[in-house]
Amino acid sequence: MKETGACPFCGQEVMVQVPETASEEEASYAAAMNCDCLNAHTFRRKEQAKKEGQESIEDVLNQDEQGKRIGCRVIPVAKELIPAIVEGDIRSVTVSITPEISIKLKWNEKAAKVDVERKETLTTKA
Ligand SMILES: [Zn+2]
Repeated sequence: MKETGACPFCGQEVMVQVPETASEEEASYAAAMNCDCLNAHTFRRKEQAKKEGQESIEDVLNQDEQGKRIGCRVIPVAKELIPAIVEGDIRSVTVSITPEISIKLKWNEKAAKVDVERKETLTTKA
């Protein structure tokens, strides 16, 4: 086991638990996940927001009253958008899946997370 890694933000050697075979990149990721500096905290918050946002997408797209799973090809595309939203490159995205179903991904500044909202409109033909 490697026992220290250099934090990519402040350069400090941090106690980490990574296998001997871990690359420099993996050791530095582990250090960032364990360092106490402000940038490492911010990095961890973002990593958490990405993970949660991607989980929300699965939850939101997997639920359907008819038990029908939608978007087996939509899920990875929507997940790809999450990091750009967390990093602030995109503020919000609406993906229209069917004429009735869409999902909206939006950065929630207050909660520091991505809000994933599924919208369904019932179109009734006269
Ligand atoms: Zn650091």
